[in-house]
Amino acid sequence: MDFTTILQRQRIFFQSGATRSVEFRLAQLKRLAAALEQHEAALLMALQSDLGKSPAQGYATEVGLVQMEIRHALRHLRRWSAPQHLSTPWFTAPSRSWTQPEPFGVTLIIGPWNYPLQLLLTPLVSAIAAGNCVVLKPSELAPHTAGVVEKLLRECFVEEYVFVAMGGADVSESILQERFDKIFFTGSTRVGRLVIAAAAKQLTPVTLELGGKCPAIVCADASLELAARRIAWGKFMNAGQTCVAPDFVVVADEVLDAFVAAMKQALREFYGDDPAQSPDYGRIINRAHFDRLISYLSDGKVAHGSQHNVKDYFIAPTILTDVDAASAVMQEEIFGPILPVLRFHQLDEALDILRTLPTPLALYLFTRNQETERHVLEVARSGGACVNDVVSHTIGSGLPFGGLGESGMGSYHGRAGFGAFSHHRTVLRRATWLDLPFRYPPQKLPLNRLKHAVRYLLGD
Ligand code: NAD
Repeated sequence: MDFTTILQRQRIFFQSGATRSVEFRLAQLKRLAAALEQHEAALLMALQSDLGKSPAQGYATEVGLVQMEIRHALRHLRRWSAPQHLSTPWFTAPSRSWTQPEPFGVTLIIGPWNYPLQLLLTPLVSAIAAGNCVVLKPSELAPHTAGVVEKLLRECFVEEYVFVAMGGADVSESILQERFDKIFFTGSTRVGRLVIAAAAKQLTPVTLELGGKCPAIVCADASLELAARRIAWGKFMNAGQTCVAPDFVVVADEVLDAFVAAMKQALREFYGDDPAQSPDYGRIINRAHFDRLISYLSDGKVAHGSQHNVKDYFIAPTILTDVDAASAVMQEEIFGPILPVLRFHQLDEALDILRTLPTPLALYLFTRNQETERHVLEVARSGGACVNDVVSHTIGSGLPFGGLGESGMGSYHGRAGFGAFSHHRTVLRRATWLDLPFRYPPQKLPLNRLKHAVRYLLGD
């Protein structure tokens, strides 16, 4: 595969101006929506093969979300693309100024395996909406989905506009040797560091959507059953392989037992007595991750679950209590269906645990007390947050989604995604009929009078 040639062809296509008109972008988004509809059955089957996602899960968390993102972009693209007029400093009068979103040019999107369709194509929607050419690198660990995505995009677009590079880390590494105008990466913090280092060589701007340990705090005044149901939903969806899943929970001491009981009840309601038989419960992606997750089971006392089966990489929804904060399950991103439940006596103890960990992608707080809410949101950093819910802040196109610190930089979805793939160019157009002489050398005013004049002119 000669990436240099592909990129040269993409650059020529971009420079031809073909991607710039809003009409072109809208047409490509409609084409993508139609292709998704046409290949929906194959995509849902591929997601089931890669991750054991039921068709309902595959639609709700992957295909449907991309379709929603397209519909949102189709509705708002003209407004996003329009120049934003700004006030012009009066000493430049007569003039007008504005910012104009410009496509970056040739862009790269690298995706992970856990939501292998959604996390590749949602940024693609933004890149197309903003008028870019795109190279996509799907994850090799979800090969069925990657195969259908490649076929779909090949049928949909010419490769000088959208090109899919298939392969693993080696392919990613060689693509990253090329010069892109923007890189959008979703994956682990470890690889994120490699991506930004490669981008730095070419001064390429990056958006990094990375991982981390998202904490949930459950206070004594929380609605416990609701907290348990919502945490169980967010944690065990996709068998815990969700970047914004609550990684662990810290619960107020006096309600810990009741919370664990409510979690068990919720899990029985969701997945029955034998989750291995539930069509709504997923599987672990591969043997390496399966083995890594099994090793965590000894890091605490199993309060629920822990049954597993290497044949189909099944691990039951598992709750661990009596977990040591220094153990591997509390030091590494779990990214699987194991939920450590820790206790706190004073809220500050919970916040202290958070302080020892890298900045998470999301923070979840369950309380009915607004003062507690204000305090926690003030002192605990995170990419995003939910109060009395989990994961929901990432769904839909209206809210920007992104990390902070070790969990990433930049954000996307809807307008934020359009912004992530656009350069906002400032333009000032000045009239030609007036040209006051003061700014030109030689300078005639003494420094003191010049200072007064500048202050007056700048309104200082
Ligand atoms: P990963 O970093 O291993 O791989 C992501 C992509 O990078 C894949 O396409 C892979 O082929 C490529 N890659 C792997 N090694 C590379 C290298 N040395 N150089 C260049 N590219 C390389 O991540 P993953 O295992 O696919 O996904 C799981 C991680 O992603 C978790 O940490 C999770 O939290 C995170 N994640 C974050 C988000 C988010 O939106 N912030 C979403 C999903 C997953």
